[in-house]
Amino acid sequence: MNLSIDAHIQQLQSVSQASLIVVSGPSGAGKGTIVNQALQRLHDVRLSVSMTTRPPRPGEVEGQSYFFTDHAHFETLIEHGAFLEYARYNGNYYGTPKAFVMEALQAGQDVILEIEVQGAEQVRQNWAARMVQIFVLPPSETDLKARLTGRQTESPEAIAQRLEKVTQECAQIPHYDYYIINDQLTDAVDDMLAIVRAERQKIKKESVL
Ligand code: 5GP
Repeated sequence: MNLSIDAHIQQLQSVSQASLIVVSGPSGAGKGTIVNQALQRLHDVRLSVSMTTRPPRPGEVEGQSYFFTDHAHFETLIEHGAFLEYARYNGNYYGTPKAFVMEALQAGQDVILEIEVQGAEQVRQNWAARMVQIFVLPPSETDLKARLTGRQTESPEAIAQRLEKVTQECAQIPHYDYYIINDQLTDAVDDMLAIVRAERQKIKKESVL
């Protein structure tokens, strides 16, 4: 007797499309740390390395943290359509190189984009159906201020500029699909893993036999 189970499994897996996993949230909320830890426990996921005109911080590695460049080169790349999205943030450009993302998606790999809210809006305009959008929050305002000051990577002016953006960034929360509150890091990483795994097991309409 043919139970059709094998055919269903084949069908379900054949339509599972790779996703763009967008992670946004205020500077200092801990997006990068959550993403890096989650990546160690996920397979078939790539992290997009952005390009920026911001100078490297101590310890940042070219090609791993960012591709660092200057304004003129960044603007040439904009003209050539090299970015999936880009934005200006505190006087610097930040952008997602398009070629890497397209290659990974075509190879069936999910891609994580750790980007701010204006960039997320641009991705939403073209890729809404394939996006999983996560907004990371610190447990409190006091905590956010303490984290930004404590990491000693920014000047007091740069910290003030980052904090000024928070209200505007949080106003975008309704456009996102999920939130993570980064109180205990291990819980936040578990939340991220749960979101990605649940999205992968979702039954897409086309997969119904
Ligand atoms: P930071 O200077 O702290 O590394 O990054 C500043 C902000 O820019 C963060 O919110 C970070 O997520 C965001 N960002 C990093 N790369 C990109 C990018 O490629 N595109 C956009 N739109 N934002 C980015």
